[in-house]
Amino acid sequence: MKLTGKAARAGAENGPAILLFAPQLGENVGQVARAMLNFGLADLRLVRPRFGWPNAKAVAAAAGAHAVLNRMRIFPGLAEAAEDLHHLFATTARPRELEKPVMTAEAAAAEARRLVGEGRRVGFLFGPERSGLSNAELALADAIVTIPLNPAFSSLNLAQAVLICAYEWFEAGDRTPPRREAAGEPPATKAELAGFLAFLVEELDRSGFFRSPTRRRSLVRAIEVMFERRRPTRAELNLLWGIVKQLGRRGGTRNL
Ligand code: SAH
Repeated sequence: MKLTGKAARAGAENGPAILLFAPQLGENVGQVARAMLNFGLADLRLVRPRFGWPNAKAVAAAAGAHAVLNRMRIFPGLAEAAEDLHHLFATTARPRELEKPVMTAEAAAAEARRLVGEGRRVGFLFGPERSGLSNAELALADAIVTIPLNPAFSSLNLAQAVLICAYEWFEAGDRTPPRREAAGEPPATKAELAGFLAFLVEELDRSGFFRSPTRRRSLVRAIEVMFERRRPTRAELNLLWGIVKQLGRRGGTRNL
């Protein structure tokens, strides 16, 4: 697919990925593909769809947006689908009590433009039609997006929610200065951060740091929040990895 004019300027090549968590209806996936192509987005990812693939209803509803459906990928879990991303926006009609920034689709689009301009990979996550995203999925996100609507009737159809986010991304392109080379080090991806945190917790377990399972649960969460809030660069993560490894070794020697 070659995009021209405004679509090309809108940065479709490295524009945000659209992630649909457990979608229930093929028609909605087709309409999502259509809305994405309307606004120059091409990277569609499904996590555990509740219908078989290929899906005739999705193809019909896509109304010719085959380029998006042909490239679409299906993943067994959200962690796998978001593995290569640096920043994930999760959309929800009802923001829960979470320690995450909540923003409009317009603000998220501006933020996404800034991040993509710095060479980061960004995704927007959408929930299943009936239930929306649960706290488990929202926990993986860096920020929450809620499209402001009539408070008495604030739940959008899945494809319409994608359409509004894709539209805001497209519109924000005209207000974004031309791409500069990324300043400094690239940030660690979610998978790299998850790998380091697993190693850190293992070392803390080994050293008896947590003392009780209850303390362990709340402290592990606090550590995760700390690292999510200030995403370290890959180089910083390597340094921390070396530090923890060395401290672990010293602890071992002392106990001999
Ligand atoms: N019944 C669910 C809504 C599911 S709609 C609920 O009340 O939470 C399907 C998906 O569309 C949602 O998971 C979300 O990703 C998106 N969506 C719907 N309304 C939205 C809104 N006002 N702001 C942001 N995303 C919305």
